Amino acid sequence: MNLRETSFKEFLKPSQIIFELKSKDKLEAIEELLDSLVKQKLISNKNLTLTRIIDRENLESTALGHGIAVPHARVDTEEQMAVAVGRSAEGIDFEAHDQEPVHLIILVIWNPSIPGLFNHLFAGLARFLVRPENRARLFEARDKNELYNVLSEIQFSFPREETIMNRASLLKKLQDIEIKIRRAPKDKLEELKKHRDLIREELDQSLLARFDLLMDRYGYAVAEVIDGVCQSCNINLSTQMASAIEGSNDIYVCENCGKYLISAGKKEKPVREKEEKQKKEEKGKAEKEKVEKAGPKKEKAKEPKSRKQKISGKKK
Ligand SMILES: [Zn+2]
Repeated sequence: MNLRETSFKEFLKPSQIIFELKSKDKLEAIEELLDSLVKQKLISNKNLTLTRIIDRENLESTALGHGIAVPHARVDTEEQMAVAVGRSAEGIDFEAHDQEPVHLIILVIWNPSIPGLFNHLFAGLARFLVRPENRARLFEARDKNELYNVLSEIQFSFPREETIMNRASLLKKLQDIEIKIRRAPKDKLEELKKHRDLIREELDQSLLARFDLLMDRYGYAVAEVIDGVCQSCNINLSTQMASAIEGSNDIYVCENCGKYLISAGKKEKPVREKEEKQKKEEKGKAEKEKVEKAGPKKEKAKEPKSRKQKISGKKK
């Protein structure tokens, strides 16, 4: 795929910026931006678009932290992409992970005929927004034109391998949903499948192909790394790999068992400890039951098998 270099100017006109949003909450602000896109005939189906944006937002907040959010949806647009930018001096609660109110909303609707477009756009935005001085210039812009000029500097070079927003946590969510789908009662199935499709749209094909293969073969595909150990095969990763994964939002592959590896880092330590304690208790209980059933001698002989079961118990 040969992609060209371009800037935000290609997708954003000053008319697509609302310098002072009237809305004070998330849903209203998104609607206000959509209304402006409808007015400019950049999108036609407002209700469908709004629903899809909200669905995505409910899955996981699109706030990036530092007062910026990028709500998005893949819907048929008149153009390849429809972008609207809204600024709020007061700030809007977007349930950001850093709890910061959002002062800049970059709304992106893109056409399903160009599946990778959003990822490429997002990569460019992330590269620009990661720099505090760039964010400061966006927030300090005194009027619409000044804001437009700063945004116009954002370059999209469409790199193939770029860290994409929440890729790792989306992949983990996809696995959780796939597992839920297997056991879901009929009335929950449709909702779960909707969520699954939303996530799949944001992940690239090669990643999904391998994911599906692993899910088919092992029942799960993603393993967390805790203290440098792959939680699927219990093997220590190389120090280099372990430190690359730690706290990262990217996806790696275990050299030993081939599962996708993600950082378990985001959980607070007490939560993790609590979960581990719970796991231990469950394990202890299960083993006690087994001992009672099989008697102590047999239990010993079964030891390796029960360890194996514990590992595949991660399927849950
Ligand atoms: Zn492994």
